[in-house]
Amino acid sequence: MATALKFVAPENKAKTFIEGKHQILINGKWVEAASGKTFPSYDPATGEVIAQVAEGDREDINRAVSAARTAFESGPWSRLTVSERGRLIWKLADLLEANTEEFAEIESLDNGKPLKVARAADIPLAVDMFRYMAGWATKIEGSTIPISVPYTPGTRYLAYTLREPVGVVGQIIPWNFPLLMAAWKLGPALATGCTVVLKPAEQTPLTALRLGELMQEAGFPDGVVNIVPGYGETAGAALAAHPDVDKVAFTGSTEVGRLIVQAAAGNLKKVSLELGGKSPNVVFSDVDLDSAVAGSASAIFFNHGQCCCAGSRLFVEDKVFDKVVEGVAKKAEKIKLGSGMDSNTDMGPLVSEEQLNRVCGYLDSGLSEGAKAVTGGSRHGDKGYFVKPTVLVNTNDDMKVVREEIFGPVVTAIPFRTSEELVAKANNTEYGLAAGIWTHDIQKAHRLASQLRAGTVWINCYNIFDAALPFGGYKQSGWGREMGREVLEHYTEVKSVCTPA
Ligand code: NAP
Ligand code: MG
Repeated sequence: MATALKFVAPENKAKTFIEGKHQILINGKWVEAASGKTFPSYDPATGEVIAQVAEGDREDINRAVSAARTAFESGPWSRLTVSERGRLIWKLADLLEANTEEFAEIESLDNGKPLKVARAADIPLAVDMFRYMAGWATKIEGSTIPISVPYTPGTRYLAYTLREPVGVVGQIIPWNFPLLMAAWKLGPALATGCTVVLKPAEQTPLTALRLGELMQEAGFPDGVVNIVPGYGETAGAALAAHPDVDKVAFTGSTEVGRLIVQAAAGNLKKVSLELGGKSPNVVFSDVDLDSAVAGSASAIFFNHGQCCCAGSRLFVEDKVFDKVVEGVAKKAEKIKLGSGMDSNTDMGPLVSEEQLNRVCGYLDSGLSEGAKAVTGGSRHGDKGYFVKPTVLVNTNDDMKVVREEIFGPVVTAIPFRTSEELVAKANNTEYGLAAGIWTHDIQKAHRLASQLRAGTVWINCYNIFDAALPFGGYKQSGWGREMGREVLEHYTEVKSVCTPA
């Protein structure tokens, strides 16, 4: 592995973990893949292999689902009180928090994101998600319901609902926020009493595996959470199609989201999806332009643009268009690219060679169709998977760079004149995940917030997340919501009980 890297986590824990064995967690045991195969995980700053990971496929998924089923039906998990369940989740949060440095280093090295970002955002948000969900474990309630039943005059009934766990859940997560996506998925499953088979992304399996160790340390019973690293086409597809999985929760591309829905049709398992986006970020001329420029740059460049909610279409009122574009381009030029593990780095590499080629392909397509790069527009350097933060202008609505999710540090800036024109353009997308609005006109802000077809609208801010705030997409950006009390609905069934009383 890349021995020149400087690890600072106490006792060299990240280095020790990365250099150790990376197996599959099934029923509380770490095991090799049934096939004996492994696959590499890379440092995207150099392209070097940092770890070999057991490559789970259908057979491992079968074993993991069977362990999750037993833990759900008859294991100690099903006998825990809700208070005990909540305390275990809270303990996991404490352990994760205590190991923040280690997790930040593993995440930074495996994914490429700056260590300082992993430390300040990914890990604390994951900790907070577990704490928030620990609180819910004791508050998942049904209700008593007064009923009349017109065809049984004179009989009174006692009727109530129970909210019960949906069962065995398959969770398939992406590489852009590896640990955080695991926390978003595991938190509600554990709070509601489900059991889980989790498949991390092939590019970034490491923090999920380390989290599995912490779950054992916290005392989760065997089989409650099983973790099967492997490829989407094999392990992921087997999980989505498995007849004994009650629900599948997926975050990733809209294209694979469709495959998940098809695979789930076999046993009509419940499905929740958090998919792509092409989110509009709108700047009006009445706003403090400095903060709008800074916020708009961060809306697209945070996490190298590898955010499903990235503000990738920047709409600017025409009278301040040049000024805002110049401001965002200047911010882009100041961003220091480098290895995520370097403390001076503002932006790391994209996660993989495939993503590098994808994003560069979009740049080539946009530029050849007549778009102009005010800054950036190409790969950075010739080692690692770096792309220059890019601002494109002179685009039109038919270009792929305007219509499709690029998932890289590339924003298209588009002028508009009236709010009506803006709303039509902003909503002219198959996606509906998020939107940003920058204005000091309070009525305009709220009017627009209701007119934009998106699951999250940020006013005079962007990328503000909280475990209590639901997140998810309109249109082809997904089904259902992550976080907040809303997510609990996707992990529970409602049972109506009634008796003459
Ligand atoms: P992806 O293929 O959708 O990957 C997401 C997860 O789904 C990974 O765990 C993946 O496994 C798994 N998967 C892939 N094919 C599957 C299948 N047939 N059945 C079940 N699971 C499957 O995303 P990607 O290829 O990494 O990235 C491509 C594009 O997706 C990006 O450029 C971006 O536009 C979008 N994306 C969106 C998000 C988001 O947060 N909404 C996150 C990541 C990517 P493997 O890791 O083995 O492929
Ligand atoms: Mg990696």
